[in-house]
Order: sequence, then C-alpha cells, then structure tokens
Amino acid sequence: MNHLRTSERNLFKRCQWAWERNYQDNLKTGREESVALWFGTGIHLALEKWYVPGTVRGVDPRETWKKYVDDSRGDTEYVNTVHDGDFSEAVSARELGIDMLTQYLDHYGLEPHLEVLSVEQTFQIPIKHQEWFSTQCDSSSGPVASYHRGPSETTYVGTFDIVIRDHNQGGKVLMWDHKTTKALGSQNTQYLPLDDQAGTYWSLATYTLRKQGVIGQDEVLAGMLYNYLAKSKADTRPKNEQGYATNKPIKKHYVSALSAIGIEEHEGKPLDKATLAKLELLADEHKVTVYGEVSASQPKKNLDRVQVYRHRSQQRSQVERIQNDLEAMSLVKNGLLKATKTPTRECGFCEFRELCELDESGKDWTEMAEMMYTKWDPYSAHREKN
Ligand code: SF4
Repeated sequence: MNHLRTSERNLFKRCQWAWERNYQDNLKTGREESVALWFGTGIHLALEKWYVPGTVRGVDPRETWKKYVDDSRGDTEYVNTVHDGDFSEAVSARELGIDMLTQYLDHYGLEPHLEVLSVEQTFQIPIKHQEWFSTQCDSSSGPVASYHRGPSETTYVGTFDIVIRDHNQGGKVLMWDHKTTKALGSQNTQYLPLDDQAGTYWSLATYTLRKQGVIGQDEVLAGMLYNYLAKSKADTRPKNEQGYATNKPIKKHYVSALSAIGIEEHEGKPLDKATLAKLELLADEHKVTVYGEVSASQPKKNLDRVQVYRHRSQQRSQVERIQNDLEAMSLVKNGLLKATKTPTRECGFCEFRELCELDESGKDWTEMAEMMYTKWDPYSAHREKN
C-alpha cells in the first residue's frame, strides 16, 4: 500500500531530486538534526505533557524541557534570538527554553476552559486519485514505452498534535499545532491560509475524529489554531505606569521623581548637586521607583495564537490538491519525468547536497550514497498498524 504524509509532500514540492533520494531510494544520513529542529521538538514535547486529556494541566513544561535537554544535548547548544530586530544575540538553548515556557505559563496560566480531547492522535485516510504508469512493450523495432493514466489509492497518514474543546468559544473544537518561530509577525503567519498541513488536517480531521470517537457524530472541527512561541527571552526592562519599557534612569529622572514626593534637598544641597549614586540610595530609602526615558524599541510580542478557518469549498480544494500532488509525484516515481532540482539557499541545509553536487559534475554518486547513507522506511510505523 502507498502512503503519503505532509513532510513527503513538502519535500517533493521543495526539491524533487532530494525527495527522490529520501522517499524513493529511502536514503537517510546519520547526520544530527539541526538545532532548530531539536529545539522545536523539545518545546513540543514539553507542551504535549502539559496539555494532557481533560481540563487539568499536566507536568510543568519547564520540567519536561529540562529533562529533554539534559537527556539529549545537555547545555551545549546556543540559539540566536531576536534583539532589536537583530538575530545575533546567542543564548543557551536550555536557558532560552525555560524562559520561553515561563513567559508562556505567566501569560496563559492554567486555562481551565480548554478541554483537551486527544493528544498525538495518529490517523490514516485512504485517498483515491489518478496515477501515471509507464509500461514497456516489445515491437518489431525494439522496446517501446507506453504511458497511461489510471485510478490509484494512497493512504494519507499523520498525527494531530492536540484536539481541544474551547469552552470560552461556545465549545468549539479546534486542532492545535505548537510552533516555535524566530519572530512573530505577519510575514511568519500570512501563508497559513494556504498551508498544506493546516489545509490537509482540516479537510481530513472531522471525518477522522468522528470515526475515532473523539468528537460527536454531528460535530465538526471549527478550525486550526497555531500556538506560536517566539525564540526570544522576556524583556525585563522596567515599564512605566503606561506599560512602556524605559531606559536606565539618569540624574534628572531621580531629581524629578524625588521632587514629586516633596524631597528637594540632600545633605543640605539641592538634589541636582548630589551624585547619581547618592540619588539612587535616596530613591531606595524612600521606595520611589524611578524610570528613564521611554525606550524607542518597545518589547515585541513573544506569544501568539492564530486561528485558521476554511470554508467547505476550501476543504474540497484541499483534497483536490492532495490528489494533484499524488498525480504529479507518480510522473516522477514511475519514470515518466526525471526528478528536477530546485537549487536555493536552502541547499546549505539539504542532507543530499554532497550527492547532488557529485551528480551536477556528472559523477556517479551511488558509491558515496552506499558509504555515507543508511536506508530507512519512512512509513514503517504506519505499516505495522495495517
Ligand atoms: S542540494 Fe539543493 S538542488 Fe540539490 S537535492 Fe538538495 S535541495 Fe535539491
């Protein structure tokens, strides 16, 4: 039986040559996963143990995160975070994760209105589609290839992160996906209405969740929710009464704040003759909080939840898109078209780059593939369930 999942579809659309090596030749490097992937997996795991079925939350996500880090890479990884629009401030991944999850807990709290219906629910749905086949026939002038298009079936497999009933939204059922991101902002989320994963899960979820008894037979999935956590530490600068972050106060701010409570002198001299250190002590003594100028760079949002809705017509077009992708894949898989390459700056992260470069220079890459790559079965877990 043929299988498909979103990551395979994405790779096919990103670069057919890489897809062919990964999903047709079943090659895989033993290369360690990227820091970004490792980091995202850990945060995902921490939230999975936090949002356990029911309305009561589970293990403190910071504890799960610390265990994940200590059991895998320890405190050896550093992550570039956003600081004043610049991605150059590297901080310890362990520390950053704890900070991000502390911000998360402080901001959202226990949220007893969220009832977790299922966690890490796997699904398999058969998709009927058209496929291109090629056959070789013998003729008097030698073998001749012929092509035909015919019906086929592929099982779409995947895992829904969590399914939640939100009692603050009239009991709507939403599928959640936790995402860590470099920064929040529309450029990071505006693709979501077209996103393959959101669209696919949306179009397949109601049927699957009803079948699995997670929702009632008359219920529908109301939407997808992307639960974003930006890889950025909390901004700890002091905030004034209006909530604006302020710079470090200087002498004039102390003089003004102390004058406001009636203190005009220190040691018999006007306040502006006192040193900054003395003014700081005086402010402490009188429990006066002194703010500097309002900073030109205000704290950025580090958490966001984006809900994505689709119409019924969009659901239909999502299924059509899966069918179109499967048909396009069959052209390459069954040898009607050669896999093409898509060189971009992403090639730097491609696990088949060395093979691809050998291929580009017209050399045989299969020997290197045998030495440096192992074989894998991307759908073994799903085959075992059949
Ligand atoms: S290096 Fe680039 S072009 Fe080559 S297989 Fe990888 S993604 Fe495709």
